[in-house]
Amino acid sequence: MAEYDIAKMEKKLSKYLDEDRYQHTKGVMYTCACLAMVHGYDIQDAQVAGLLHDCAKCIPNKKKLKMCSEHKIPVTEFEKEHPFLLHAKLGSYIAREKYGIRDENILSSITYHTTGKCGMNLLEKIVYIADYIEPMRYKASNLPKIRKIAFQDLDECMFEILKDTLAYLEDDAGDIDLTTKDAFLYYKDLHMKRMQH
Ligand code: FE
Ligand code: FE
Repeated sequence: MAEYDIAKMEKKLSKYLDEDRYQHTKGVMYTCACLAMVHGYDIQDAQVAGLLHDCAKCIPNKKKLKMCSEHKIPVTEFEKEHPFLLHAKLGSYIAREKYGIRDENILSSITYHTTGKCGMNLLEKIVYIADYIEPMRYKASNLPKIRKIAFQDLDECMFEILKDTLAYLEDDAGDIDLTTKDAFLYYKDLHMKRMQH
């Protein structure tokens, strides 16, 4: 269990984020802490993951692509077309290099906070869900229901969020990251199995 100087990280991070993103970040950090309390995860680790999840968000897209090639971070065709997605991978890289994070669970929870994936571990689910439900969020449909489920059943909550996210993306953009589709099918399968019992 590593000891982190969260106040120091906050100060540093605030220089790299705009005010809205910083407020969102704090919301995610405290929501991660709450979910860690309920579902049994190290609170500080969860807070650090929430704090750093969007640390690369305010880097301009061009620079994101440039940094990925400089640091040999692989970029898919889909990410080239949707470079905002890169803030997840790049965020994990920055968390390691600039904030000294070595905990693989924290780093992977940052990597997968945007797309989700199949078979996520506890911290990955906590960060993904906290990002969706933190108090400043208001646009998504079903938020009251999803917020409640988040404190009861993380897998069911993943299913609900991914379902709504795919429905939203299908309406709006028409192109969806395969990782997100896979994640949805995985959590839908778990949902269906639960329904049979
Ligand atoms: Fe993000
Ligand atoms: Fe976020």
